[in-house]
Formats: sequence, structure tokens, C-alpha cells
Amino acid sequence: MTDRRTLIIVVNMRPSILFPLFAETRTLPGIGPRLEKLITQIAGKRLVDLIVDLPTGVIDRSYRPKLIAAEAGRIATVLINVLDHLPPRDRRQPYRVRCSDDTATIELVFFHAREDYLNKTLPVGSQRLISGRIERFNNKLQMPHPDYVVPPDQDAELPLHEPVYALTEGLPGKSLGKAIRGALEKVPALPEWQEPSYLKVQNWPLFADALRKAHAPAHEADLAPTTPERSRLAYDELLANQLALILIRARMRATKGRVLQGAGRLKARALGALAFALTEAQQQALAEIEADMALPSRMLRLLQGDVGAGKTVVAMLALLDAVEAGAQGALMAPTEILARQHMAALQPMAETAGVRMALLTGRERGPLREATLAGLVKGEIDILVGTHALFSEDVAFRDLGLAVIDEQHRFGVHQRMTLQGKGEQLADVLVMTATPIPRTLALTAYGDMDVSRLHGRPPGRKPVETRVLPTERLGEVVEHLRKAIAKGARAYWVCPLVAESEKIDLAAAEDRAAELKAALGDKVGMVHGKMKPADRDAAMAKFKGGEIAILVATTVIEVGVDVPEATIMVVEHAERFGLAQLHQLRGRVGRGSGKSSCLLVYQPPLGETAKARLKTLRETDDGFVIAEEDLRLRGPGELLGTRQSGQVEFRMADLAVHGELLAAARDDAKLALSRDPDLRSQRGEALRALLYLFSRDEAVRYLRAG
Ligand code: ADP
Ligand code: MG
Repeated sequence: MTDRRTLIIVVNMRPSILFPLFAETRTLPGIGPRLEKLITQIAGKRLVDLIVDLPTGVIDRSYRPKLIAAEAGRIATVLINVLDHLPPRDRRQPYRVRCSDDTATIELVFFHAREDYLNKTLPVGSQRLISGRIERFNNKLQMPHPDYVVPPDQDAELPLHEPVYALTEGLPGKSLGKAIRGALEKVPALPEWQEPSYLKVQNWPLFADALRKAHAPAHEADLAPTTPERSRLAYDELLANQLALILIRARMRATKGRVLQGAGRLKARALGALAFALTEAQQQALAEIEADMALPSRMLRLLQGDVGAGKTVVAMLALLDAVEAGAQGALMAPTEILARQHMAALQPMAETAGVRMALLTGRERGPLREATLAGLVKGEIDILVGTHALFSEDVAFRDLGLAVIDEQHRFGVHQRMTLQGKGEQLADVLVMTATPIPRTLALTAYGDMDVSRLHGRPPGRKPVETRVLPTERLGEVVEHLRKAIAKGARAYWVCPLVAESEKIDLAAAEDRAAELKAALGDKVGMVHGKMKPADRDAAMAKFKGGEIAILVATTVIEVGVDVPEATIMVVEHAERFGLAQLHQLRGRVGRGSGKSSCLLVYQPPLGETAKARLKTLRETDDGFVIAEEDLRLRGPGELLGTRQSGQVEFRMADLAVHGELLAAARDDAKLALSRDPDLRSQRGEALRALLYLFSRDEAVRYLRAG
């Protein structure tokens, strides 16, 4: 649902100085369609994507020994004479080329060699400069597949220090390296967007110099994220992110919303019918939401709290407020099954309050769908619950006042949602997320939103007993399950993605399900990501209904599903999961009145980090504490957030290392915008270029429109 008109305007506004960087990689010499595809996979489509793809390693070719002194195992560059060619007697043997300098001989070894090519590059009697790894085999020196073979007068071709980049299958390192070098040559001299005084204090190079330096490491130490050049680049990226978020937020604030306020009649009715009272945290969150809704500007608020913290109830009360104020409300869930669950849970509250609610997912079709759409336009439906289907073109509200988006664990979705707006209507937006995000991450992922946090859980919840066991004790776990299901218990059994291939993982999970079936009888069911949604729903329904007592699942599918009867969570290969993921899995149980347990089964030996993770889990069940610890334990270089879709990803900044830079970038962005809200000053213009450079175009759009 991108607005194409807007995109065109944005492209036209991009400063011309940046044009060369926004050329596609295929415009580089030597990049054909095949390489272009692979490079797009690894870095992106445009030159600007290449320059921010920093090296992950370095090869030092400065070691230039005489052969007699060459150390095996090292990368060496040697000047040799070609003595003779030794073609193999059969195809399985390698082709050898014997060479020497004045101290010793060495054999270059080629498998699947093309003889004509070798004759051309290594003619007998010629002198060549070769570079590659030296090996010693049967006390003879050899070099399998030299990286470089060049005539001595082309010494300059041979990099002294060669950056190593992350690759994908089929993409030769040399090709990617060459493409990146080509892209770097196109980096123009850009106006400086950083405060000169700050640059000086930090001792950071200019942007273009920082790029060139970061791509030319000479030693391992140059790869550290804390070098001046890498710090500067990380800061630039974070600054772009923070500027964009502040601009978007300011825009949201300035957007005319509507005053949604009532006497709280509907809310009181619904509350009166609830079997419980709101916790203090819930009351506080609701008050914050209501205050926002009552303002004439548009609300953009995040409601954070663990699964089961009581977010949905709060959201429903806010929806009732909106209805009482004469508007309609929408509640969007990430999956069909969750939408149905919300509908079922909230329907009684709606009925008590006398509010009309309807469901709309991809499965509501034909006359039923027509009727719902008609009711919506006429205002006969007050609250619509559904999936993404809510935002289809043909769904029109009479007057949408509040949109609640339940993201569960996929954060980042809101950024798309909020930027769209439906037609002329600018509804207040409340996003619910069950991902407790560390403060540093919240700044980047949700920096444009106001945040309400629901700490803790509703009263009456018993803590989940967490145990950590090695795989050898799997037998005991099965025995424990046998006893528990005999007493009517319900259990999840999670098998993670371990192998690279989903097929293999699925097979492993299926084997596990079969084993459990053999041991415990046929009350064992299975769900996995490759299943048709209808089959998956059917399996879940059986589990909820008790027909199935043990549900084997691959990874974290359908995490939001609420089965209060489930009291046991078994996680195999717990060492493979991130802390936050384990916490979320554990949150599946302990939702009913029964005593619950979580059994984390690991494959020894446990690394230090895995050990610390499991220990943290045993010690706390506060999602916010766990989130902070998670970030700390990930350490530099590791991917943040274990690939949650829609997440903000940085190419050069690493939040586990650059947390302080993020805070500085935030202050910097705030100050810059408070001095120059339209980014019109000299620095302002440079900051605009920065925003384009890091593809925060949508933020620039707000500068104009505001
Ligand atoms: P979340 O949306 O954060 O996952 P829910 O709002 O679905 O949590 O609440 C989880 C469960 O706890 C629901 O069954 C709900 O009825 C119950 N609940 C919510 N608030 C309270 C409360 N204040 N006291 C007792 N139970 C509550
Ligand atoms: Mg919920």
C-alpha cells in the first residue's frame, strides 16, 4: 500500500550530489545479471548499499618471504619462476605447476584445472608474483589455488591487505570486493553533517575518508567496531535513524487528530462485568492512553508488556472510550487465529457494554464479508476485529477513531501502519507488543512513539517453575509428561530450527513427535510453519479442546495462542534460543490457575553465554529485566533480535557496542531540529543528505509537508 505519488516526489527531491551512489550495482564494470542478483542478496541493489557493507575480516598479503623461509599455514606473496607443468595422469589428480625462486621450489596445485588457461597465466620460463596460502606436504612446499598470479610489473594489482566480506553461495569474494571498490570510487565529497567540534573531540575522519578507511583494514584490530572510522559511520547511521524518528513523531503530533473523550459509561459497564479489578499498572496505562485520546492531536502510543500482562483488556477499554465518543474502533491481530481469539475473549465485554463487534479476516468471504463491510460504512459496527484484512482497499469505516495493532512479537510493523493512514481519517493508533525491548532498542525501534509499560502480571498468577536439564535426562522429561497427562495436563514441546535446512528440522520434529507418540500414546499432535493455516488451526483447536495433550511445535509459531489449560513447556535445544525467545515461550504456560513448569533441555557442553542465559531465566521472569540482559549477553557482532521481521536493522551500528553513540545521536538530532526545524541551515542541508543516504526519505517528506 505504498503511495506511489509520494515516492516519485521523494526521488525527485534527492540531492543530486547523491545520484551516483543511488545508481544500481549493475552499472559497475563487470557486474552482469548473475552477480547483480547475488550482490543484491548480500548487500542491496544500489551502490550506497555496497559502501555500507563493511568487511568482516582482513587478509594480510604483506608477508613476502624467500621460499626456503616460508612458513606453512601463512598467506604469503612470493616472486617465482615457472619451471614446468605437470598435467595429471587422470581427472582425479590435480594439475601441478612447479616453480622456484633462488632458494627452493614450490608446487602450485590446481584441481579441475583448465590447461589452456594455466599455460596462459603461468607460461614455462616466465616470472610471476603469486599470493596464497603456503602448505607443506611430504616435506614439499605447495600452494593450492593461488589467490593471485600476476606478472612482476603488475605488483600494484596485488593488494597488500585485502578486506574480506561476508559472502553468499556462488558469489566470489574477489567480485564483491571489486564491486565495493568500484562503489567507493563513486563516493562524492559530501557536505559535513556533523558538528565540527564533535568530530574534533571524537577524533573522527570525514565521512568519505571513514568509508575508505573502514574498507581498507590492515590488521584485525581495524575491524573493531570502536575504531574512529567505524564509530563515525555507526554514529552517522544512528543519527539518521534518530532524526527520522523525531521528524516522524513531530509530524504525528502535528497531525490533526480528533478528541476522543466520553464520560466512561461504556467502560464502567464493561469493568463492572469483569471478574477482576484492573491492576495499578493497567489503570496507569489506560489513563495515559485516555489522556492522549482526549488531545486534539493524533495518538501514537506503544503498550508494552509480557504476554498475559493484561494489555488486551486495557486496549478494549480504550476502544470502548472511542465508541462512546461516537467513533469506531479497530483491533488488528498478526494472525487469523489470534484475531479469532481476541474476538472470543472480548465479545462478552462488548455485549455487556452494548457495543457491536464484528470479525474480518481473510476467511470471511462472500455475503458475510459484504454484510460486515456494509455495517462498517453505515456505522452499525462499532468495533472491528481482524487481521491485515482490515486494511484492504475496500474496507471503509464510517468514522475510525482508534486503531489498536497487536504486534505480539513482531515489532516494527507499526512504522508501516502509521505512515499510511486510511484515507482522510487519521485515527489514533495504539500498538500492543509483547516484546519487552531494552531501552536502547526502544529508542531506535519505537523512538517515534510514546510508551506505556505494563510491568508484572495480573494477580493470582503463579510463577512458572523453570528447570534446566541436559539432553541425557530427556527420558525423565517423558516420564514426567506421562504422569502429568494422566492427570489431564496439557504440554507444549518445542523443537527449534537447528540445521540450516528447514526440511531437516521438520524431519527432526516429526521424529520427535513419533517417538513421543510411541511412548505416550496418540494424544500427541504437531504444528509447524509449513502447515496450511487451516490444518494448523485444527491442530491448535484440538489442543485447546484437550483432544491432544502434547503439542509438538517447530520454533515459535503461533506464539500468541492462549491455552490456559497448558501447564508444561518443554524446550529442546534451549541453548539455541535467545533469552527473549525463551521468555516468550515460557509465557505460553502459567496462564491458568494450575501450577506450571518450564523444562529447558540443553545439549551439553553449554557455552558461557548459553549458561548465563539459562541462569537468568531461572532467576527472573520480568520481561524487561530479561530484555536488558539479552542485549548485554548478545555482545558485539551478533545479530540483534534473532531475525524478527520488520525490525530496524543497522548496517554499520551495533547497538550492543554503540549504545552510548545512540544516546549522543539522539541528543544531537533533538538539538539540531530544535534549532533548525526545517533543516534549512547549512548543517540542515547536510543532514538532509544524510537522511537520504540512509534511506530515511519518508522523514524528509515530513519536513516539507509540515
Ligand atoms: P495480554 O494481552 O497482555 O497478553 P490479556 O489482556 O489477554 O493479556 O490478559 C491475559 C489474561 O489475564 C486474560 O485472561 C485476562 O482476562 C486476564 N486479566 C487481565 N487483567 C487482569 C487483572 N487485572 N486481574 C486478573 N486477571 C486479569
Ligand atoms: Mg493478548
